[in-house]
Amino acid sequence: MAQLLRGSMWIGRCFGIRVGIHPSWLLVFALAVWMLSESFGDLGAMYALSVSVITALALFGSVVVHEFAHALIARRFGVATLSVRLFLFGGVATIAAEPPTPGAEAAIAVAGPLCSAALAGLCALALEAMRHLGGEPHLALVLMALAAANAFLAAFNLLPAFPMDGGRIFRAAVWRLRGDRAAATRLSSLTGMAFALALGLLGMELAWQTHDWEPLWYVALGGFVSIATIQSYQDARCTRCERVPGGSGDAPQRKPAA
Ligand SMILES: [Zn+2]
Repeated sequence: MAQLLRGSMWIGRCFGIRVGIHPSWLLVFALAVWMLSESFGDLGAMYALSVSVITALALFGSVVVHEFAHALIARRFGVATLSVRLFLFGGVATIAAEPPTPGAEAAIAVAGPLCSAALAGLCALALEAMRHLGGEPHLALVLMALAAANAFLAAFNLLPAFPMDGGRIFRAAVWRLRGDRAAATRLSSLTGMAFALALGLLGMELAWQTHDWEPLWYVALGGFVSIATIQSYQDARCTRCERVPGGSGDAPQRKPAA
């Protein structure tokens, strides 16, 4: 993963963890602002743009909160997080080492989706309160977007495709059952590749049937998941490596063979 995100810009630190933006994120941020501004079109161009930018920042803020949920639970298990970054397909927390036990792996993985589900629930509660008490309809639109985005974030990440959260929970379960992390990594990586392939084929099929370019997004996402699966598999197999935070990035540096 870290290799894919080289060239990130660091914008600050939170809880001692570097927060960064990969240039590819600017593309998806602009796309989100453009799509949101259509929903707020009746507000007038400048006001619609301002509300869209704030809403898009809140949406991606939710992604950062999701990643920090992973990072802070990892810290409880003695695993440091090197960075949290936003990029084209969402966010990623780069941890300094593999979790020490299957229980730690599962707890770290489930923390993100649980946090996103809680945020979605809070937004839904606020919407319900607005429905009874009355309120600004555009604020309701913002809350609906946040609720939907966080619910999607929780559900999508729970798909059993390593290295996504669901895939890590699956790896933890296999690791616990078989007592063999390497075998669990192999099996969960296979499910990750199968998911990536299915996503790519689904995108191509939808694009073919609808004659629309939008489903090709799934093809790109499938391609990314397959690369992330291969790299995470290689990282997990790297038993003789040390990680070097800072400098050229978080990529594991293999020690020369003895
Ligand atoms: Zn996650």
